[in-house]
Amino acid sequence: MATAPGRLIIVSAPSGGGKTTLCRALRRRMPDLGYSVSFTTRSPRPGEQDGVDYHFIDRDTFEKGIAGERWAEWAVVHGNLYGTSADYLRQALAGGQDVLLDIDVQGARQLLDRFPDSLTIFIEPPSMEVLARRLAARGTDDPETVARRLRDAEQEMAQRGLYQHRIVNDRLEDAVEALAALVAKERAKERQGG
Ligand code: 5GP
Repeated sequence: MATAPGRLIIVSAPSGGGKTTLCRALRRRMPDLGYSVSFTTRSPRPGEQDGVDYHFIDRDTFEKGIAGERWAEWAVVHGNLYGTSADYLRQALAGGQDVLLDIDVQGARQLLDRFPDSLTIFIEPPSMEVLARRLAARGTDDPETVARRLRDAEQEMAQRGLYQHRIVNDRLEDAVEALAALVAKERAKERQGG
């Protein structure tokens, strides 16, 4: 029997929404999920590892990748370039693996054009006030960056209608449960052919 192609699981959220932590928890629970490690021109934050959190590359390399059609989607987010490897997606999906992607709304739109049966989930903060507090508390970004991320968050929130599912990240443990339950249910449906 031929392997059924895998499916994309696209998770987006304004930064500070807890998405990275949620995706990490989901991957621990579902080790068979592929994870698309994005390429970016932004500098690593303390503790981030090249090849694990992101592939950190310079602008020139990224732009050459655009010309060479190396990205399945790419976008400018908070002033930096971010992209998904087309090769990685192709290989993982052809091998029957479902692939988790932590990307922004612009990227989700591009991938939905090409992979319309993707599972899409938007993680939202309980309120903009909570998001502002979380971003400031993270302490890894300067005040100007925090302000820009908040402005971008408002725009992202305005586009959440694009997503099939929304999860409010109020208590992290609850959000992890909700995300894992949702993904498990959708994958089971898929396996049953519908
Ligand atoms: P951060 O710099 O905080 O890790 O991520 C900033 C934003 O870029 C987040 O919304 C994240 O989901 C998004 N992002 C990360 N990788 C990609 C990617 O490959 N493509 C797109 N379009 N967005 C990405």
